[in-house]
Amino acid sequence: MNARSTRGRAPAVSIADAIAAGLAPDGGLYMPETWPSFTPAQFDGADTLADVATRFLAPFFAGGVLADALPTICRDAFVVEPPLVGFGKPSDFLLELFHGPTAAFKDYGAAFLAGCLAALPRGDKPLTILVATSGDTGAAVAAAFHGRPGFRVAILYPDGRVSKRQAHQLGCFGDNIRAFRVDGSFDDCQRLVKTLLADADFRRDVPLGSANSISLGRLLPQAAYYAHASLVHWRATGRALNFVVPTGNLGNALACLLAKRMGLPIGELVLASNANTVLPDFFAGGDYAPQPSIATLANAMDVGAPSNFERLRFLYPDADDLRVTLRAETVSDDQIRAAIVRTRDARAHVVCPHTACAAEVLDRLRARGEQGDWAAVATAHPAKFPDVVEPLVEHDVPPPPCLLAMLQQPSSAEPMGNDADALRARLLDW
Ligand SMILES: *Cc1c(COP(=O)(O)O)cnc(C)c1O
Repeated sequence: MNARSTRGRAPAVSIADAIAAGLAPDGGLYMPETWPSFTPAQFDGADTLADVATRFLAPFFAGGVLADALPTICRDAFVVEPPLVGFGKPSDFLLELFHGPTAAFKDYGAAFLAGCLAALPRGDKPLTILVATSGDTGAAVAAAFHGRPGFRVAILYPDGRVSKRQAHQLGCFGDNIRAFRVDGSFDDCQRLVKTLLADADFRRDVPLGSANSISLGRLLPQAAYYAHASLVHWRATGRALNFVVPTGNLGNALACLLAKRMGLPIGELVLASNANTVLPDFFAGGDYAPQPSIATLANAMDVGAPSNFERLRFLYPDADDLRVTLRAETVSDDQIRAAIVRTRDARAHVVCPHTACAAEVLDRLRARGEQGDWAAVATAHPAKFPDVVEPLVEHDVPPPPCLLAMLQQPSSAEPMGNDADALRARLLDW
């Protein structure tokens, strides 16, 4: 299958080429040209997440250079099945996407993207993946490429502006991974990455790749875990599952919507935003008005201009169609704190600040009499955010084994000025 740019001014390319490129040359985002359509019965015999993902993703890759590798890529990227667990009240569930190597849902997309890039032809020189991160993305990308021959990862993060645990995670990989703590903001880090990616001369010397969240190679695999979770629920109950998704750049929620459009038994979808209200304002009938981001307790969702909104508008050119398809609610920091305490008391679950946004919205929906089976999506393990969560729940939140192992590794990051030449120099003499 081919992919097209949302801006319509770039030639169609294969899905594999779209994954290798990241952004389309006209500045748009790649979208598959057509959407396969499934019935639940077409997944009979596919029980594991990897099996469901292979069948679900096959039409996108059919006839292309990655078609033969797809089952292996899926087997490697989807080892960890996200459990759909009871969430303390009848008909409420929690989809735990945080059991991967860095304890956040981004592990799935990063691992799939890494598998695709590793299976594509490359030159002799190693490919250096540049990634700017405000916390979770960098670690997920590093874990996905760690130890892969032919790849190196340079992580750029704003010095002093990620949590202590996140900083430790980013600096603990070693080997083919280097972490640079940049004297600047997350936006500065992103600018450095963009500057180098746009520097064709430099890229001849040091081949560069990107792994940011707008890559189709991260979006498509995320739809696969929604396909799997909804099938698990469908097989057990015969009912569709509705989702509340904590949302920042809209990658995770868009993936859920894609699985629904492709015929999986998914009911309604509600976005849970933090105090960055650009999406709730739009869905309440306002214009789409990107804002500078506001810092909140759910920091991985601190996005004032969600990049995947462009894909959403491409799918639904009519704003009113879009507004009947999705709902969005905003959750303040005070409501996040209250939801963490209430979720522990009323549902016997300790949740991270991002997941707390979904829990809060689910509570609101039920209070308004919303029927049906609903899953709140848990995007990160609460132990990644001990400074926020532990004082509220008044006990330690032990890290899961993979996170603990990382925290016990030595960790170091290299200081770097907010300067593209400084970054070029580091990469040239790597
Ligand atoms: C990235 C992230 C989000 C937001 O996901 P998007 O795909 O950007 O909407 C939510 N929670 C956690 C823990 C994250 O790391």
